[in-house]
Amino acid sequence: MELRLYNTLARNKDSFIPIEAGKVGLYTCGFTVYDYAHIGNLRSYIFADVLKRALTFSTQSEKGYDVKHVENITDVGHLVGDGDEGEDKMEVGARKAGKSAFEIAEYFTKVFQKDLEKSNVLSPTTWAPATKYIPEQIEFIKVLEQKGFTYKITDGIYFDTSKLSDYGKLAQLDLANLREGARVEANKEKKNITDFALWKFSPAHSTGSGHLPKRQMEWESPWGTGFPGWHIECSAISTKFLGERFDIHTGGIDHIPVHHTNEIAQNEARFGHKVVNVWMHNDFMTVNGTKMSKSLGNLYTLDDIEKRGFTPMALRYLFLGTHYRQKLNFTWEALEGAQISYNRIVRTLVDMDKGPLDDKELNRFTAAIADDLNTPQALAVLWNNTHNPSLVYEFDKVLGLGLEKAVSSFIQSQSDIPEEVTKLVSEREQARKNRDWIQSDILRERIAGLGWAVEDSQSGPKVSKT
Ligand code: AMP
Ligand code: ZN
Repeated sequence: MELRLYNTLARNKDSFIPIEAGKVGLYTCGFTVYDYAHIGNLRSYIFADVLKRALTFSTQSEKGYDVKHVENITDVGHLVGDGDEGEDKMEVGARKAGKSAFEIAEYFTKVFQKDLEKSNVLSPTTWAPATKYIPEQIEFIKVLEQKGFTYKITDGIYFDTSKLSDYGKLAQLDLANLREGARVEANKEKKNITDFALWKFSPAHSTGSGHLPKRQMEWESPWGTGFPGWHIECSAISTKFLGERFDIHTGGIDHIPVHHTNEIAQNEARFGHKVVNVWMHNDFMTVNGTKMSKSLGNLYTLDDIEKRGFTPMALRYLFLGTHYRQKLNFTWEALEGAQISYNRIVRTLVDMDKGPLDDKELNRFTAAIADDLNTPQALAVLWNNTHNPSLVYEFDKVLGLGLEKAVSSFIQSQSDIPEEVTKLVSEREQARKNRDWIQSDILRERIAGLGWAVEDSQSGPKVSKT
């Protein structure tokens, strides 16, 4: 599949050409594990999953790419407010839970990975928790120091962004305007408003304001006891596993102005050239038009969704109905609509026989996906082909809606129907044939009383648990 992908760096859609033929290095900015993930976070990982599935997708005539996918877990250094001020989110989360920062990191990593599994997101080749790669991060900072990109102030070692002529190109930052805004900047010791921390000193060891409580997560370094800045983990981990040039980096659009901008600065300062070819960003999931976020508290988790009787696959279906670069406003009505559509696809497939792979339809599908992952269009092609499960299951290798599994569990649930229910269903069929609608309704009620629903379709009655 010849993909055309939107690159935030170039602000346009371009043909994807891998650095090494047949292979792709893919990095996904991981989750900060101080709390449960909300469904906005999941949108970001489902987008990356569709991208990965599209890259690996093979047809009879064309083999997909061999994708090496690396994803970090941010378990240290992400401070409250995304800047270099305030407490570490991990330490705040630990205090809230009455546990250690390491314990909550482990707990929320597991829950997050479980949420991904339920959402049918394939595991990356490598999971990389930031705390496991502290030496790599220290090494990275050492090289930046040797190359003259760093300076020391009271609370840490900082990156001097004025040393790079094109700092801020990803976000197309208006540096003059930012400098103007510097008057409200909290850290007066920074040389430039955009400079950021590479290594922060633990409060007890800092020479200045020791207002913050003693940290649980801290390490020795050539500059003193402390912890890495948030951005250095992604530069250190991505280049460790994928090399100093790799193909694609994903994340949400909130990471464009600070996190990814600073990752690029670190990478290019160290290696002297571009490291990532294509930067891809998903837009937000919103609630009443406002970004879903932990700080605003306007969030839902996968657990909330399931408690209301919706399935993770309905949520995934909802996501795929909007292009990843569009905002998606969450409503329960929209999720309900997605659940109904998803169930309808499954019920239709149950009754159909597998057919041949229709090349024309397969091409329509791949053309939609190849066009910067146009999943709404791809779903439209799927709907046109629900009479052919073979084709739909082929599409689902990219969409990841778990349709084949849903169909077999539906069939399985059918075979578990108690004899009494089966008997009532066939009596009801007889009543319907006799056009005895009253008797047919009475029987439907009796079936309902046993915990089963009967629905009439062209291919006969469909029975399911209520
Ligand atoms: P974080 O743990 O804050 O780094 O977030 C994990 C991922 O979720 C990042 O790629 C964010 O950009 C993304 N993200 C956060 N909030 C939203 C949202 N409301 N909608 C879509 N993606 C989001
Ligand atoms: Zn990152």
